[in-house]
Amino acid sequence: MKKLVVVALMIGSVGWADEVLAQKPPLLPEKDVAALSNELSGETAKRNLEGIARFHRQRGSRGFHEAAELVAERLRAYGLSDVAILQFPADGKIFYGTQRSRPAWDAEFAELWEIKEVKEAKGVKENDASANWQPARRIASYGAEPIVLAEDSETADVTTELIDVGEGTKEGDYPGKDVKGKIVLVGAQPGAVQELAVGKFRAAGIVSYAQNQKTAWWGEDENLIRWGHLETFSANKTFAFMVSLKTARGLRERLAHEEKIRLHAVVKAGQHAGNYEVVTATIPGADPKLKEEEIAFSCHLDHQRPGANDNASGCATILEVARTLQKLISQEEKTSAEQPPHLLVNQGRLSRPARTIRFIFPPEIEGTMALLNAKPEFAKRIKAVAHMDMVGGGPETKAVFHVTRGPMSLPSFVHDVAWAFAEFVNEESYKFAATGKAEYPFVAPEGSKEPLRAEYSAFTMGSDHDMYQDSSFGIPAIYLNDWPDRYIHTNFDTAANIDPTKLKRAAFIGAASGYFLANFSVYDVPPTDGAIITGRLLRTAPLMQRLPETTPDDFGVLPVNTIRYEHGILNSIDAFAPGMGHELSTDWAKTIDDLVGIRASGPEARGSGKVIFRRISQPRGPLAVFGYNYFAEHAKVAGVAMPKLLSYEGLWGAGEEYAYEVLNFANGKRNAQEIRDAVSAEYGPVPLEIVEEYLRALEKIAVVEQVK
Ligand SMILES: [Zn+2]
Repeated sequence: MKKLVVVALMIGSVGWADEVLAQKPPLLPEKDVAALSNELSGETAKRNLEGIARFHRQRGSRGFHEAAELVAERLRAYGLSDVAILQFPADGKIFYGTQRSRPAWDAEFAELWEIKEVKEAKGVKENDASANWQPARRIASYGAEPIVLAEDSETADVTTELIDVGEGTKEGDYPGKDVKGKIVLVGAQPGAVQELAVGKFRAAGIVSYAQNQKTAWWGEDENLIRWGHLETFSANKTFAFMVSLKTARGLRERLAHEEKIRLHAVVKAGQHAGNYEVVTATIPGADPKLKEEEIAFSCHLDHQRPGANDNASGCATILEVARTLQKLISQEEKTSAEQPPHLLVNQGRLSRPARTIRFIFPPEIEGTMALLNAKPEFAKRIKAVAHMDMVGGGPETKAVFHVTRGPMSLPSFVHDVAWAFAEFVNEESYKFAATGKAEYPFVAPEGSKEPLRAEYSAFTMGSDHDMYQDSSFGIPAIYLNDWPDRYIHTNFDTAANIDPTKLKRAAFIGAASGYFLANFSVYDVPPTDGAIITGRLLRTAPLMQRLPETTPDDFGVLPVNTIRYEHGILNSIDAFAPGMGHELSTDWAKTIDDLVGIRASGPEARGSGKVIFRRISQPRGPLAVFGYNYFAEHAKVAGVAMPKLLSYEGLWGAGEEYAYEVLNFANGKRNAQEIRDAVSAEYGPVPLEIVEEYLRALEKIAVVEQVK
């Protein structure tokens, strides 16, 4: 049976497929695609990226504010409407949904010096021991490279010895080492050793050579300095400097040879009450009613300097989308006003879309949480998001470009729309690379000529798209992202590695998708159905590969939940063209029924598996956000032990992902068994008891309730 079901998955409402095949480029009239292709500039995007990358853009900091002013100034210069820098108080106490606001953090000065004893210093009195110590070598300077000071460092002026404690994350790293009042040299992130090194063993500060995220190139380049963090809400305030592996190896070797190393650390920095700042602007829609609905472009404007790919690239790219759409739309209106309609040349112009297009530049996750919670009207108006986080990585970064789908808890056709445009860029850019000729090569004059080779990927977490797609907001978000990037979160994430051609291509995929959705009406349903069929075929291939991996008990769970998901994708069209999605979905159900004689129903729930859970409307947002874990904090207070689900390793996903989706699936209709099945289809089989235990824990902290 299972094979037949999978075959049925591949069949769509084929009646419309002919029109789809005849269309090239997809979904939009060719003149619109040509207008976008001609106007979008990878160079303009890169110039703006270079501007943003000059600022050290920590949440609530002066550097972030300067970047926000730059973006707002550009938006005004480009002629956008409603340009504003929204401010949301961040003082460490105010909550935005599940996000406890983190106070702003700024640094004025920070230097780390090695000092050496000078035996015969001139003019030094014999009894003045400290004056014999002179600065010998500057190890780190915030002024030169702000990345060297870990975020949330506090003011200090310390002269003391350096002690090597290995990773520094476990008690076993410290025996026999007198670290009290000293600076510890650690391999882990400062925040991960803070409680132990500073809290328990009373170290004065930290020097860390933590490496960036794991990829094949991890630890290979010993010159990289990684961006570091302390725990924002730790009671053990301290400071931490970040150094390269090369610097750390030099220090460790000398310490291993019993040499004493004395350091002088000076830090002027600290947390203070401030604001999350979110830049926003619009292109108002033309339809009197539909203009109340919005299609949003999102990025995150924060991160360390230079932070070129992560994420000046996403912000500069949506800024380029803003410039391009605004220009093409206003040109159309200028021309229409001046000339009689029969003289209109339609090239290089776009008509104003029915829905409003919005642009959002927040600090990552916490800024989006502040916006969506403090201004619920935004969450209400936004129908779909195109979120860009790392979209410019050139060959040096080793990046693969992804068009990432949403979670299975929120089926939506918008991902197939984005993929239709991405596939078009894949084909055209490959044709150009292979033959030197293509109608739409999407090549920037200063950029590369490599083909894009974008991948259509299953949902991955880790940026603002998680906030939008959380079930308390339920807004589908197209996620365009590079991975891996061997320079992520290091001082080498520079503008030099950014490829203007890639920026132009990401801008096109985003702009075309956003503009198409902003205009979406019943007339767009047939070609969209075609895009969904393509997407379904691509989703079905991995499903067929995964089937043999699953357990006999879960024989039917995978296909049944996949069919439900595909129904959800068709139904999601209703939000844009009421009734149309439902019609497609009903037709497709009939097709499946005719072919294989089954309906998409899962195994019967038994016993406690029958209990239905519903998410409570507040607080909104995922339970683990930025620098704050709502679940962990509240579970501690309620005396709830850590549920096993949080450390569960599934076939295709792990704890955090299961937890995110179990909560999202708890919609007041599914019982525990159905939630378990849905999440098993997405990330691999998980025992019902483990899912139940987590749901009970959520119930105890008043995040879900039982439906009686
Ligand atoms: Zn990012």
